[in-house]
Amino acid sequence: MARVLFINAGSEGHINPTIGVVQELISRGEEVVYFTIEAFRERIEKTGAIVRTLDGQKYIQAFISGGREYLLERINGLLHTADIVIPSVLEQIEGEHFDYIIHDSMFGCGSLLAQILNLPAVNSCTTFSLTKESFENMLEQLSKNIPTEVGKQINGEYQSLTAMVKEKYNVEIHSPYEVFCNPAPLTIVYTTREFQPFGETFDQTYKFIGPSISTHVIQANFDLTAIKGKSLIYISLGTVFNQAIDFYKLCFEAFGSSHHTLVMSIGNQTLLNDLGEIPQNFIVKNYVPQTEVLKYAKLFITHGGMNSANEGLYYGVPLIVIPQSADQPIIAGQVANIGAGIKLNMQGLTANQLREAADHVLNAPSFHKAVSTMRESMQKSGGYQRAVDEIFEFKCQNEI
Ligand code: UDP
Repeated sequence: MARVLFINAGSEGHINPTIGVVQELISRGEEVVYFTIEAFRERIEKTGAIVRTLDGQKYIQAFISGGREYLLERINGLLHTADIVIPSVLEQIEGEHFDYIIHDSMFGCGSLLAQILNLPAVNSCTTFSLTKESFENMLEQLSKNIPTEVGKQINGEYQSLTAMVKEKYNVEIHSPYEVFCNPAPLTIVYTTREFQPFGETFDQTYKFIGPSISTHVIQANFDLTAIKGKSLIYISLGTVFNQAIDFYKLCFEAFGSSHHTLVMSIGNQTLLNDLGEIPQNFIVKNYVPQTEVLKYAKLFITHGGMNSANEGLYYGVPLIVIPQSADQPIIAGQVANIGAGIKLNMQGLTANQLREAADHVLNAPSFHKAVSTMRESMQKSGGYQRAVDEIFEFKCQNEI
C-alpha cells in the first residue's frame, strides 16, 4: 500500500474523471488523501478517500485577480493561487508521509507542490493536452492581440509572481507552460489519442486512457423510465458557463412542437421559474445524471466541455457544440474535424438554425459513421482501470 496525495481544486469537470481513478486506487489498496474545495467533499468521500479542503472562495478570488482576458493573465491568476494552496496543504499534511502525488493539470499548483515535497508526480489532465511546443505557439499567437502597454504590465506581474514563488517556497518556475499545464513524468489524459488534436505528437509519458466514467458520480433525482424508447435530444451547457436563459427559451422555440423528447439541464444558477412556460415534451432540471441520460440520447446539444464531449462520444451520440468559453471552441473545432458533429455560434443563433442543424445531424449518415468509430475507440481505451494500471506501472518504475 502506498499513500497518495491528490491535489485538485476543481471545477466539476476536473473532478468527475478522477472519481473512478480514486475509487480504483483505493480498491487496489492505496490510501488517498484528496485536497479539493468543500463543494466536492461528499462525492470524493464516497470513494473512500480522506478529504481535506482548500478555501474555495479565496481560491477563485485569487485566480480571477490575475485577469481573465488574456491567457497570460490566467497564468498569473494560477500563480496567485499558490498562496492559497501551498501553505494550506503544507500545514494540513505536516508530519505525514506520502509516496507519490497526483495533481490536476491546471488547478492546485500541483507541479510546485511535487517539487516542494520532492514526490514522484502524476498529472491528471481533464482537457486536451498540450506539448510545450504547442502551448508556446498558442501563447505567442494569442499574445499578438495584447496592446503593448498591457502586455508589459502582464509580463511584469508574471515576473514578480514567479520571483515571489521562488522566494517563499524555494522552487523555480521556468516557463508559463509549467504553470498552465503542470507537466509531470506521467500524464493521464481522459480522452483518446484519436480525439486529441495532434495526438501522434505526444510521447509515451502521456497515457490516453479515454473517458473515466464512474456511475456513482450521479447524485441527481431523475426518472429514467420517462425517456426510455423516446426520440431523445439532450441539452446542457455544463456546470460553469451555463447562465443562458435566452438560449434555454430558444430551445423551447426550436423543439417545443417537435416529436422529440428533450432533456435540458440548466445548471444550479438558473431558476426553473425564470424560464416561463415549459413545453410538454421538455424535461428541465438544474442537474441530471448526464452519463445515464446520454445512453438514451440521439443528439447532444452541448457547450463542448471536455467531459461532455467525451461522454457523448463514449455513448455514440452525435454532437452540436455551442462553445461558451475556455477550451470549448477548440473542442468544438475538433468535434467538427472528426465529423462527429457540428459547431454553432451562440451569438445570433436563431431557433430555426438550431432546429435545422439538429435535423441535419440527426439525419445525415456521415455523423453516425464518425461517431460510431469514435465510440468504439473510446470504449476500448480502458478508462479509470487503465489509468490505475498506468499509475501502478509508474510506481514500479519509481520503486514505490
Ligand atoms: N454534468 C452532469 N449533469 C448535469 C450537467 C453536467 O452530470 O446536469 C456533468 C457531466 O457529465 C460532466 C461534467 O458535469 O462530467 C461537466 O464537465 P464538462 O467538462 O463537460 O463541462 P464544465 O462543466 O467543466 O463546463
